[in-house]
Amino acid sequence: MAKSRIQFQKGLSVPEFLARYGTGKQCADALFGWRWPQGFVCPACGHADGYIEVKTRGLMQCKHCRHQTSLTAGTIFASSKLPLTTWFLAMYLLTQQKNAISALALKRHLGVSYPTAWSLKHKLLQVMLERDADRQLTGVLEIDDVYWGGECHGQTPGRGSPNKTPFVAAVAKNHEGHPIALRMSVVEGFRKTELAAWAAKFIHPDSIVVSDGLACFRGIADAGIEHQAMVTGSGAAGVELPERKWVNTILGNVKTAMQGTYHKASRSHLPRYLAEFRYRFNRRFDLAAMLPRLGVAAARTPPMPYRLLKLAEAHW
Ligand SMILES: [Zn+2]
Repeated sequence: MAKSRIQFQKGLSVPEFLARYGTGKQCADALFGWRWPQGFVCPACGHADGYIEVKTRGLMQCKHCRHQTSLTAGTIFASSKLPLTTWFLAMYLLTQQKNAISALALKRHLGVSYPTAWSLKHKLLQVMLERDADRQLTGVLEIDDVYWGGECHGQTPGRGSPNKTPFVAAVAKNHEGHPIALRMSVVEGFRKTELAAWAAKFIHPDSIVVSDGLACFRGIADAGIEHQAMVTGSGAAGVELPERKWVNTILGNVKTAMQGTYHKASRSHLPRYLAEFRYRFNRRFDLAAMLPRLGVAAARTPPMPYRLLKLAEAHW
């Protein structure tokens, strides 16, 4: 799809959103369909014999084993005091705007406290992170090394100061050379062994990866993947190479977007912010579908308590 067609696609308008998801009943029906597209399946015994509504408590009781469950139990929506309409509005705001929305802006739009908005946002970002966790990039890829929180490309590699967080970015292109999929991962450092392990997990073995001359990228070949290093000397000249045009352009957009929305994203939460950018980038061809697709993923993502959200993330 051409860039202009991506920018001018319809998306989901506010009236359309309200017509579809404006009431608690509509949200509950949508969530039920996302969670159980073939009809209710008991989370305890796995039977699809149906359920009896325990109306007084808002629960569903399995006809087979009598286990009681709720619509949100076992999903990212679990243990939340917020009405589903607020969750759906948050999903709308996270997916339909051009730029990422900060927790502060979300707080104002939803009329909730800042910790509530932060928790809501990071739970939905966790959904995005887990949804793409196991996907491999394939085809012709451009790859680059980046530091968040300091001077980025072109600095002495592998020697970032403690307040800089290293991450790698890889962009897969289609036959016309247009970018179709993105992965960004925080790494411990730009080391060959780490890049080899990363590439083995996230890059399909039939791919061709183009990087600059940074030594750690030789780890990609160690992982059994074809690797081409474009060595052009130092400085800005390397940035202009057409073989690596997209990864540089996209990283520029990532940095601008991150600085605009998050200012000082902490190292521990960076993987979720990167996952958010990646999720939106990879699905930008169908903006209107992004909300229900996020809803399906959310219904299949296990609960994530606030205390775990606040902890440092694992890498990758
Ligand atoms: Zn059951």
